Amino acid sequence: MTIKNIKLTRRNVLKVAGGSLFAGAVGTTTGCSSAPEQASGPAPINGIMPWSNWSGNQVCYPAERARPRNAEQLAKMLKETTGKIRAVGAGHSFSGLVPTDETLLSMARFRGISHINEETKEVIVGAGTRLSALGDSLFENNLGMINMPDVNTQSLAGSIATSTHGTGEGFGSLSSYVTGLTLVTADGETIKCSASENKDIFDAARCNIGSLGIITDITLQVRESYYLKERSEMLPLEEAFEKMEEMRIAKRHFEAFGLPHANHMLLIEFTEVSKEESDANQTDTSETGDAYETFRTLANVIDAVPFLRGPVMSIAPRTVGVEERYGAWNDIFGNIRDMRFNEMEYTVPAEDGLACFREVLETIKEKDIDVIFPIEYRYVGEDDIWLSQFYKRPGAAISVHNFHDKPYESYSEQMEAIFDRYQGRPHWGKLHNKTEQDFAALYPKWEEFKELRSKLDPNRRFINNHLDAIFPVIG
Ligand SMILES: Cc1cc2nc3c(=O)[nH]c(=O)nc-3n(C[C@H](O)[C@H](O)[C@H](O)COP(=O)(O)OP(=O)(O)OC[C@H]3O[C@@H](n4cnc5c(N)ncnc54)[C@H](O)[C@@H]3O)c2cc1C
Repeated sequence: MTIKNIKLTRRNVLKVAGGSLFAGAVGTTTGCSSAPEQASGPAPINGIMPWSNWSGNQVCYPAERARPRNAEQLAKMLKETTGKIRAVGAGHSFSGLVPTDETLLSMARFRGISHINEETKEVIVGAGTRLSALGDSLFENNLGMINMPDVNTQSLAGSIATSTHGTGEGFGSLSSYVTGLTLVTADGETIKCSASENKDIFDAARCNIGSLGIITDITLQVRESYYLKERSEMLPLEEAFEKMEEMRIAKRHFEAFGLPHANHMLLIEFTEVSKEESDANQTDTSETGDAYETFRTLANVIDAVPFLRGPVMSIAPRTVGVEERYGAWNDIFGNIRDMRFNEMEYTVPAEDGLACFREVLETIKEKDIDVIFPIEYRYVGEDDIWLSQFYKRPGAAISVHNFHDKPYESYSEQMEAIFDRYQGRPHWGKLHNKTEQDFAALYPKWEEFKELRSKLDPNRRFINNHLDAIFPVIG
């Protein structure tokens, strides 16, 4: 492909800003730490197969792998063993939440909907159920998730462990739609919790970073099924900023992708429509061109001829037209992202979001930071979950990414300095450099969470290297 062929389509912008269907297939050499991916992938060590996350930046060699069949087997295992355990969902976290040298526990056998309350529209779901499978089952039962993240490849328990979210200030994170859950603690005790039963555990466990115990099932508030129109438009930067402020105040369901070094921004709105309107407007949404190739080509051209970055990034967005897609909620939300990246995301107070986003885009230009990966901007409603990024604070979530095989440390550190000035709270599942002191200042319920955690897991069975910095041993 030559530079003449480069056309930035709206679909390319979206594809480059998201993820993929495959996880955990790559990684590197030794230890359970962050490590860059190698083309050949990691080799087994002493016969132990490696585990790695979706982007390949987290790798470990667990001595044991467990996949309990049911809650009884899980409880028995916890009662009869004493070693460290980390639960894994779909391995879609970029931070070191999962790696362990000891037991890696998959809850993949806890899947599917076991009960539907037609009246209250609540469903009981196995912790290991992937969001895509949950979406299909809900749709078959004429039900829908109230909101969804960018992709649907995560597990439900993994998603709520980090307050995974979609967009719209009128909508909370997935954790905020949990109305009950069952937790098996370090010594094998089973605890049910909800707003009316073990309320403190409920408030902590809805965003738990895998540190309280193993969740076996989750009760989720859902709604009747629905249809959506997704409209995306590339706008000049200032026009986009004005429109975003209006949409935030109206608590509308929308997100934005800012393009580094460009003077345009992609805005995507979601509007609920009737089935009839959706059916009447079905469009061919099949892929046109390969996003990876387009963006890699852009990156390669810019690497070879750096002075072309400004012109390329300012001209290419102008070629993107308005696009509309109609469909059932689970089709519109379930994006397929087929290129890998590493990501940092911070949530700042919603009212400061646009100022912070502007500073991010301006800093990239001013400091001439070598990145072309789109920056995602979303709003999320507040909740009352102790460690949620949205605890008592509606938030603007800003995500910065780079290709999985490009360095991200310097870029993300520069962005983190901006987020810190706005009292940003990092996404638990994405890259950050925060430790216990920072979290104590960011979360009013930090001490309560820590105390409860120590009570439920006194021997630190659920603490790995990454969580050691977050919950250090005092004294
Ligand atoms: C391509 C891509 C797109 C993404 N899009 C979004 C997005 O739109 N919005 C957003 O907010 N985030 C997004 N993320 C981040 C992702 O949603 C979170 O990191 C999420 O936690 C990953 O879920 P998982 O099932 O892969 O869990 P894992 O990463 O495997 O685990 C996450 C945590 O959950 C714990 N855990 C898993 N199962 C259990 C269990 N049964 N009991 C107790 N603890 C458990 C683990 O121990 C770990 O602490 C994205 C990530 C990727 C790679």
